[in-house]
Amino acid sequence: MNQKKKYDYLIVGAGLFGAVFAYRANKAGKKCLIIDKRSHIGGNVYCENINGINVHKYGAHIFHTSNKIVWDFVNSIVDFNRYTNSPIAIYKDQLYNLPFNMNTFYAMWHTKTPESTLAVLESQRKDALDALEGRTPDNLEEQAMALVGKDIYEILIKGYTEKQWGRPCNELPAFIIKRLPVRFTFDNNYFSDKYQGIPVGGYNVLVERLLSGIETKLNCNFFDNRLELEQIAEKIVYTGPIDEYFNFAFGRLEYRTVSFEMEELSCPNYQGNAVVNYTDIEIPYTRIIEHKHFEMFGDDVYSVKSTVISKEFSTEWSPGMEPYYPINDERNTRLFAKYKSMASDNDNVIFGGRLADYRYYDMDVVIWNALNAKI
Ligand code: FAD
Repeated sequence: MNQKKKYDYLIVGAGLFGAVFAYRANKAGKKCLIIDKRSHIGGNVYCENINGINVHKYGAHIFHTSNKIVWDFVNSIVDFNRYTNSPIAIYKDQLYNLPFNMNTFYAMWHTKTPESTLAVLESQRKDALDALEGRTPDNLEEQAMALVGKDIYEILIKGYTEKQWGRPCNELPAFIIKRLPVRFTFDNNYFSDKYQGIPVGGYNVLVERLLSGIETKLNCNFFDNRLELEQIAEKIVYTGPIDEYFNFAFGRLEYRTVSFEMEELSCPNYQGNAVVNYTDIEIPYTRIIEHKHFEMFGDDVYSVKSTVISKEFSTEWSPGMEPYYPINDERNTRLFAKYKSMASDNDNVIFGGRLADYRYYDMDVVIWNALNAKI
């Protein structure tokens, strides 16, 4: 007779997928052990507190969703603040609001009405379409010009995209940009989702509460003790890289990554906004994040005398680096399909989260998937 194992679930990875799954399983009376190879819980939403400022260690995270079930769920765990993402772009010392809206166009063309703005935009689009002489765009540069014309492309898209991908826009495929939304209102709210904000007290509070009362082991890499760990639970929830689970049997999946240069500055307010994009190719970084603005508003900004900024550099990935953005090209798509088919044959393991699904997911999607995973 088979003896019942010590745990119902071994959950590999204490990111949002693992934490939400563990929370639900625990509520359902299941005994869980959650492990993470890092020294902290939270996965990529983890924040390091520096002088009272929550620093988003793995890149700026802004929670936004239109999914009311997800929004109600996260709010049942922690309150969210009123942060609204309204990034600024800097190009050759000029400031522009993002996303592209009437404030942006006023700075660019001095147009003050939707009608006069549309006229400029349409005339620039027409020039780009005329240059194509009926062809469909061959590359990202042609595609972007056909969608929004020369000025927006050159000032706000070209340099930023070339830094992001490490290649000239005229060598990048057109399909990367499908739509470039343009707003004819004075609305700097980047997301069009119904709900957005940052957990009050930071993301760590959300994850700590999800994992409250659940046995957690940090600095514990599943692959260092695989045989033993596979024996201690009835089922495994695996949220690490799918290719690693199968010992890279078909080869490695590839990513793009970001490196961060963090600086503590002795001024209270460096750039006056959480997110500032540098769209000029001459500046090597893509963005500067000033973390305090995610959680401190108005005069509150001055309640902490220092500030922390991170410069973001888009970087080529190699094994050992943080795997951030999956590459959806033909090779990687084919490879993932092979791993996925091996995973579907495995009834004892639930694969979930961004690394096991090899997909870029926003946080709300990961939470939704974890809320819907079968327990
Ligand atoms: P992760 O957070 O990566 O968690 C997986 C965990 O598994 C990690 O802690 C890892 O250490 C652990 N693990 C892996 N292998 C092992 C192993 N062998 N043994 C033990 N543990 C292991 N989403 C938004 O909605 N808004 C944003 O503004 C936003 N900004 C982002 C910015 C960047 C730079 C990136 C890369 C992503 C951003 N996202 C954002 C997406 C967001 O980070 C993810 O949706 C979410 O964090 C994924 O959660 P996860 O649990 O799937 O993965």
